[in-house]
Amino acid sequence: MQYFFCVDIILFMGLINRRKFAIGTTLFAASAILGSFYWGRRWNYIIIHHSAGDFGTVESLRQVHKERQKHDPIDAIAYHYIIGNGNGLGMGEIASDWRTEYDIWGAHVSLKNFDRNFRGIGICLIGHLDLNPVPAKQYASLVALTKRLMSKYDIPVRNVTGHGMVAGEYTDCPGQYFPLEQFLRDVS
Ligand SMILES: [Zn+2]
Repeated sequence: MQYFFCVDIILFMGLINRRKFAIGTTLFAASAILGSFYWGRRWNYIIIHHSAGDFGTVESLRQVHKERQKHDPIDAIAYHYIIGNGNGLGMGEIASDWRTEYDIWGAHVSLKNFDRNFRGIGICLIGHLDLNPVPAKQYASLVALTKRLMSKYDIPVRNVTGHGMVAGEYTDCPGQYFPLEQFLRDVS
């Protein structure tokens, strides 16, 4: 009701005629529909990370993100999915929060790689993969999740990689023990 009341006032005041108003609202509705269609389907990359810590939950990683990127208004984990190692989350357990629920961009690579954040799904393995290999059950969970996302969003295997392999990123994340070549074969 309030909406129509406002519209009447705008028309009454002669700010805009009915034809312009009809065209304007149609265009607005069309772009909103097209935009929401694009928004949830824009994912084109998958980037694997490790947490570089032995313990991890949605809550603890949300705190880490808050500390590392103090000015980011998105109070969520930096990634789209995290996969537990049995310490905090269950072994191989997949968790996410509202960043994924609303298809919000990630905060898992540097600002230089805008597109890898905006259209890249970040998956973080809890654990320190510079010190330990990936437990088999956690790895199996990662492979299953990655394959599911690749098929859902039609992401080619060439767009799946580890954080440190993205050009311009200076990190050895997801850790020296992460079996990247094996992983890319397993998800192909
Ligand atoms: Zn990383």
